[in-house]
Amino acid sequence: MKVLVAVKRVIDYNVKVRVKPDETDVDLANVKMAMNPFCEIAVEEAVRLKEQGIASEVVVVSIGPAKSEEQLRQALALGADRGILVTTGDDEKLTSLQVAKTLQAVVSEEKPELIILGKQSIDSDNNQTGQMLAALTGLPQGTFASKVAIADGKVSVTREVDGGLETIRLSLPAVVTSDLRLNEPRFAKLPDIMKAKRKPLDKKSLEDLGITLKTGVTTLKVTPPPERKGGGKVASVDELVEKLKSEAKVI
Ligand code: AMP
Repeated sequence: MKVLVAVKRVIDYNVKVRVKPDETDVDLANVKMAMNPFCEIAVEEAVRLKEQGIASEVVVVSIGPAKSEEQLRQALALGADRGILVTTGDDEKLTSLQVAKTLQAVVSEEKPELIILGKQSIDSDNNQTGQMLAALTGLPQGTFASKVAIADGKVSVTREVDGGLETIRLSLPAVVTSDLRLNEPRFAKLPDIMKAKRKPLDKKSLEDLGITLKTGVTTLKVTPPPERKGGGKVASVDELVEKLKSEAKVI
């Protein structure tokens, strides 16, 4: 079984995000970039399926600037077999639908039986790409997976939903998106990082995939969120009620 995992290059989650002075975008100059944490979980799950003898090949794909090769190499160091980098311009911002359409073209070339994405990118926080890819390809989807089990040509996905856990069974091929508790990703070992440098990585352009992407989205302005004001302590319930009436004016 071939597993395709989509991996996105994002700002490292430890970095405090700054906005450019001209408010056109987030400032990426000299900022540490990393693999989206939910994508790391998706890669780990695919690698575990390979270690269990269920998956025969793990292919990782990223759509983005040439530097996204770093995140693909990291996925290869974690145990993926092969990478595909669909390069876009350095400053090109793709919408989820554009990413999903590009992934759709990769899916039709690669014909994987399982496609795993992160549930969400931590930069754009969209939580849309997996769902859109499932709709475009007509494949069943199991989003927010906290457990994935494959048996008899089907995948059982335990999903984290508002009311608790829901388990669904999907026929393969299927699209699954990983939630935080699906697994704990491993760290890449130095010999694996060295080996990953020699693993195959295919670079393609959008034209190679035969797609032209149109966008209907324009970013007008990017601004930081308002500074949070510190809280205060009250001595009694009466004082709290008084403040809610006179200061917060919510009751
Ligand atoms: P989003 O819908 O943007 O929150 O992203 C959800 C998931 O879609 C991510 O965790 C990735 O698995 C995948 N994805 C989003 N953007 C890209 C990209 N540029 N390249 C590869 N995968 C992506």
